[in-house]
Amino acid sequence: GSTIGILGGGQLGRMLAVAASRLGYRSHIYEPAAAPAGDVAYAVTNAPYEDAAALRAFAESVDVITYEFENVPTSALDLLESIRPIRPNRRTLAVSQDRLTEKDFLAGIGLRTAPYRNVETEADLPAALADLGVPAILKTRRMGYDGKGQIRFNDAGGRDWTGAPSVLEGFVDFSAEISVIVARGADGQVAAYDPGLNLHRDGILRRTTVPCGLPQSLLTDAVLIAARIVNALDYVGVMGVELFVTPQGLVVNEIAPRVHNSGHWTQAGCAVDQFEQHIRAVAGLPLGDGQRYADVEMENLIGEDMARLPELLRQPRAQIHLYGKGEARPGRKMGHVNRLL
Ligand code: ATP
Ligand code: MG
Ligand code: MG
Repeated sequence: GSTIGILGGGQLGRMLAVAASRLGYRSHIYEPAAAPAGDVAYAVTNAPYEDAAALRAFAESVDVITYEFENVPTSALDLLESIRPIRPNRRTLAVSQDRLTEKDFLAGIGLRTAPYRNVETEADLPAALADLGVPAILKTRRMGYDGKGQIRFNDAGGRDWTGAPSVLEGFVDFSAEISVIVARGADGQVAAYDPGLNLHRDGILRRTTVPCGLPQSLLTDAVLIAARIVNALDYVGVMGVELFVTPQGLVVNEIAPRVHNSGHWTQAGCAVDQFEQHIRAVAGLPLGDGQRYADVEMENLIGEDMARLPELLRQPRAQIHLYGKGEARPGRKMGHVNRLL
């Protein structure tokens, strides 16, 4: 059988490896830190992204390379790509590794984003704040996730700094947050899952619910937006597209070029879940159609939520996923539960 190389060994890599295994593939995980995915993968390379020999050996041992983590350094990607194909492609990584290029790309294909300004250095901040007004959110251009690296300004007097090149975004007064998990196959076929309603707390996703209870016309718009993005990037794989619902229509918050936390409900709601869908796409297999067969609420189990595990295990319609991470530190994603409604 063939081997799928996966950059990143967190919970997303772990669930990708399980899906790959079900389809008869082996997976080889490359992860510089401790890897929850390690116990389910066929092979694990635990080495930094600067280790050229390790990268070369990894690439040579696999047939295709994918990732659960989009912030792999360019130098590592260049080396890997000289040996095996990387899917989703490099252009997508370049666009999505930097919030500024991502927003420029989205605006460039005619999609609405929050109003934004490049804040290259702290000195650019006052002008950007004067331009966009408050409330506004300053976000590091690179490496941010789960709301990390973000500062909210509620009055123009705030002068905190992220410490790195950033974008300032005008605050979007949304009525809801939704996301589309979309897939595009190697042949250009596109399949989207039903958009989910997302609830965040402290910048971290807590819950996703399907159906999301919004008008069908809006959901169709959301899917068309996601399809436009993956087509424009000649994308192969699963992507998460986060959207704000506003009275003026949909605003794209950000894209994630990988399986996405808000798509975990597909494990309980669909014949082919997002992990299998991603493996199918990068392996060049036909995609599942994305149809949803159940109403589902996905709840993340974060830190202290793990204390509720005994009770959750007794709920008859709760599908439990645990990531094997050990210590349940505050803010750490330990697992999730898909509740069939
Ligand atoms: P992740 O990648 O884990 O989804 P992140 O760190 O990239 O998170 P964002 O998605 O940019 O962060 O922001 C986190 C949350 O903060 C959003 O889901 C939304 O609730 C809120 N938020 C972000 N940007 C804006 C904005 N411009 N206006 C209003 N709310 C915002
Ligand atoms: Mg993000
Ligand atoms: Mg986000």
